Amino acid sequence: MDVKKQLLNLTPYQPGKPMDEVKRELGLERIVKLASNENPYGCSPKVQKAILEQLTNAATYPDGYARMLRETLASQLGVKEKQLIFGNGSDEVIQIISRALLSHDKNTVMPTPSFPQYKHNAVIEGAEIREVPLKNGYHQLDEMLRQIDEKTAIVWLCSPNNPTGTYINNELLISFLNQVPAHTLVVIDEAYKEYVTAVDYPESINLLKDYPNLLITRTFSKAYGLASFRIGYGIAQENLLQRIEPVREPFNTNSMAQAAATAGLTDQAFINECKNKNKEGLKQYYNFCEEMNLAYYKSEGNFILIDFQTDADELFQFLLKKGYIVRSGMALGFPTCLRITVGTFEQNNEIISYLREYKMKQAI
Ligand SMILES: *Cc1c(COP(=O)(O)O)cnc(C)c1O
Repeated sequence: MDVKKQLLNLTPYQPGKPMDEVKRELGLERIVKLASNENPYGCSPKVQKAILEQLTNAATYPDGYARMLRETLASQLGVKEKQLIFGNGSDEVIQIISRALLSHDKNTVMPTPSFPQYKHNAVIEGAEIREVPLKNGYHQLDEMLRQIDEKTAIVWLCSPNNPTGTYINNELLISFLNQVPAHTLVVIDEAYKEYVTAVDYPESINLLKDYPNLLITRTFSKAYGLASFRIGYGIAQENLLQRIEPVREPFNTNSMAQAAATAGLTDQAFINECKNKNKEGLKQYYNFCEEMNLAYYKSEGNFILIDFQTDADELFQFLLKKGYIVRSGMALGFPTCLRITVGTFEQNNEIISYLREYKMKQAI
């Protein structure tokens, strides 16, 4: 029995060890996970009530149209209901788009290093992959444009970019969109949009009316603190989404997730508070980096990539023994860097003191 030959080059996603197992192995009392850019403050307290109410509906299929969530989100974003597509995480939205547009006779252009799912899905669909390296952490939009030809089905942008935290400003984005041919879909992954404070970050939804080939993805996994429920969405012109929709499984998002996301949307005070605390947390890291003379990227997300000029896996292990799980840059294309999710004030302080200890020891 043969699987598709393009699958031979792929490895299954390697999940991190369960936290309880790590705790036992290392004899730790508590572990703080700052590895996957989850919200350190959890989610809005309004969410719990909403999902408890859903418990009685377990035997019923979810609403495949996600009506409540759709209405709430459409009115909040100022778009039409049919301008939204929901997925089991924005991961699934990326998969749906890839399945709808990519095939062996198409190519797709993407930045690297960036979010791995663009490439992963393109490999599965058998499309040619054209990766354009970041320059100083930023998308090389000019080079990405040069890579687009008549067979380019999708060009991916990630802003803020995971793992660098850098963003594409309004002027650069518009100039880029003006040069992308109509047959190429531009996807902007805005998974961290709720955290952005840069004043020249594009209000990309306002661009949708002018660019029928633009699709924005967002998620409830990060600022909304709902990663375990798996729910995200895409926004585009209605006509584009109607052509993509047949790929979506009819019941791809579940009732709990829909209810949780709807409740989360009604609590923008919570999102604002998280955004402000995140900004303060980033400052803690910036100050530390300046003090220690470490290179880093200014981040518009809830994470920071810092170059420790050391073997990232070793530093990862050092922090793990102290009870902190972060992301080694080794697998992210930055072998001497760590990507650290911004935690609470206390968590940031503590991890920074361990990092200082490590660098001091190294200096001896
Ligand atoms: C986390 C993340 C996603 C995926 O989020 P879901 O949990 O699948 O909604 C998508 N894009 C980027 C850049 C991310 O960091």
